[in-house]
Amino acid sequence: MRPEVITDPNLMRTWSRDRRATGATVGFVPTMGALHEGHGDLVRASRSVDDVTVLSIFVNPTQFNDASDYETYPRTLDADVAFAGDLGVAAVFAPSPGGMYRPGHDTVVRVGAVAEPMEGKHRPGHFDGVATIVTKLLLIVEPDRAWFGAKDWQQVAVVRRAVADLDIAVGVRTVPTRRESDGLAMSSRNIRLDPTARSAATGLWRGLSAARAAHESGVHAAADLRDIVTRIVVAGGSIEVEYVEVVHPETLESLGDSRTGAVICAAIRCGGVRLIDNVELSPRP
Ligand code: AMP
Repeated sequence: MRPEVITDPNLMRTWSRDRRATGATVGFVPTMGALHEGHGDLVRASRSVDDVTVLSIFVNPTQFNDASDYETYPRTLDADVAFAGDLGVAAVFAPSPGGMYRPGHDTVVRVGAVAEPMEGKHRPGHFDGVATIVTKLLLIVEPDRAWFGAKDWQQVAVVRRAVADLDIAVGVRTVPTRRESDGLAMSSRNIRLDPTARSAATGLWRGLSAARAAHESGVHAAADLRDIVTRIVVAGGSIEVEYVEVVHPETLESLGDSRTGAVICAAIRCGGVRLIDNVELSPRP
């Protein structure tokens, strides 16, 4: 069934409050559209526990530090609404930039330490944009639960910090990364990869998987694990590694040793497209 498409923030809030007034729980999946099965997994996870699911589509200008990335970000609203309907989404919230950032808008939500390394360092201002828009969306939709993908590991940490610190009454849930059959993490940006870059991009997950296997067979020095990822990624040719970091899963502090449990996060540039991915390492004796 075609979901309701709501563009006005006040109507969205009323819609959501009306549902909650009937005793229904509301799940919320924030996205930037160009939906794929990774987003589908978030909706399916929500549908398994929430009575109704709202999905937002908003290419948020304030989280792009690169103007051309914002301009070329894929926008496929009609197909997205149809896909959301097939998944059982009850309402799509698709506000305009001017509707979310009205004249005079001058408030920023800035999260501290977890927002600083990795994406925070390489994309100045990115997490201010993310924390601000997610806070605004949560205050509009007022969901019981909000669903995020583990692919954006640091983003989830930033959102959890903001939700806790601002006493927002929502449960934050994380869903595992959905991958293509060759391991590449699904991403709306993947359609911008030309065939050469698409094939080279598979090195990112191969590198992360190899590092996880090395960790499981006794290689625990962060520098060695990072080298494994980097060597495999660059072997794919014409790829620039932005960072590979071994970090604490929650604080995102850099770790020297993976035995306590860690996440390896990486960002690469491949044929002009920026891709991120990560792998979680379990604690080892
Ligand atoms: P985006 O539209 O890229 O901003 O992503 C919206 C949400 O979908 C975020 O919570 C992402 O982490 C999540 N997401 C994106 N790609 C995937 C994926 N491959 N698997 C699971 N979740 C994803």
